[in-house]
Amino acid sequence: RAYLVGAQPQADMAALNTALLALVASLQPGAEEVARQQVAFEAVRRVLSQGWPQAQVHLFGSTANGLSICNNNDIDICLELPDGSDSLSSKGEVVEQMAKLVEEAGMKDVLPLPKARVPVVKFVVGETGTKVDVTVNNILAIVNTKLLRDYGAIDQRLLQLCFVVKHWAKRRQVNDSYRGTLSSYCYVLMCIHLLQQRAPPILPCLHALKPSTHRRTVGVWQCDYHDEVSSLEDFGAQNTETLAELVWAFFEYWAWKHDYNNSVISVRTASFLTKAQKEWTRRVGNERHLVCIEDPFELTHDLGRTVDRQTSGVLHKEFERAACILRDCADPLEKLFEPY
Ligand code: ATP
Ligand code: MG
Repeated sequence: RAYLVGAQPQADMAALNTALLALVASLQPGAEEVARQQVAFEAVRRVLSQGWPQAQVHLFGSTANGLSICNNNDIDICLELPDGSDSLSSKGEVVEQMAKLVEEAGMKDVLPLPKARVPVVKFVVGETGTKVDVTVNNILAIVNTKLLRDYGAIDQRLLQLCFVVKHWAKRRQVNDSYRGTLSSYCYVLMCIHLLQQRAPPILPCLHALKPSTHRRTVGVWQCDYHDEVSSLEDFGAQNTETLAELVWAFFEYWAWKHDYNNSVISVRTASFLTKAQKEWTRRVGNERHLVCIEDPFELTHDLGRTVDRQTSGVLHKEFERAACILRDCADPLEKLFEPY
């Protein structure tokens, strides 16, 4: 498993690219599935609007940022209340009230989790079988969903790479932040960061581009960035790397090039920060900072903090496995995505 400086994949990269693009196409949800999610969202919106006529109901997560993989039956919804319900306890109360309301409206398997770090009510929309998570005033998630969607509109290679990486992470069972691996959100940020680092870059740094056309303050966090992405569609045109080359670059980086001891990847600055700069050098409680990914808005939030000693070993091994398969196999795809 040793790293060979400058090693290149065995496979015919043009053929590998064609196969990866076909895989991406097959992972895209069909029109029927998209319509079903929309029906489920409208059903939930109707119920919540009866309980809170002043509130807004938002869809966020992968169904809203264009990164949903087919057969994903989950949707993320946020109830945005006008004001005054920002404390954790009142969010918990709203979650309890929502649970009652959706139960009365005939939703199945209703499970309120009012004491969770992010209070949530989970249930299933009977007509469509869609699993729903509803959170309250989860405004940062709405904003970071938009940021991901905006980056995705700049260069289609980002969406393609995210599909491949998410599919790989689900197959290899390293896509579960509750079990110490990384969330889909985290993998997408890793992909954005990689494309910001290519030479020439494929993606810009939307936080750094002026003027900041998206302006919003959420609690103590200023969430400003440049969101006029339609004028950036040619940004990555100077870079002609293919999806296959970027998939290789992703796994090579996380297998052998990332400095796990010192480095923090930061999409906000399109650069690397140090753990010392972020004061992420010591374990505090359960936060170990073994794999460090800065949230682009909530700057004290290390998205890799759920990773512990054991799961960081698992992750690192999986990155190495993927990189070795890409390097050594003439026809790597089946093995790369082999279920764990
Ligand atoms: P999947 O298709 O696997 O469900 P997803 O894009 O919906 O992927 P999730 O990890 O399910 O991603 O998260 C849903 C949304 O919740 C993200 O798009 C993001 O807005 C928000 N989110 C998730 N984890 C975090 C986190 N640790 N910090 C901030 N926001 C988060
Ligand atoms: Mg989701």
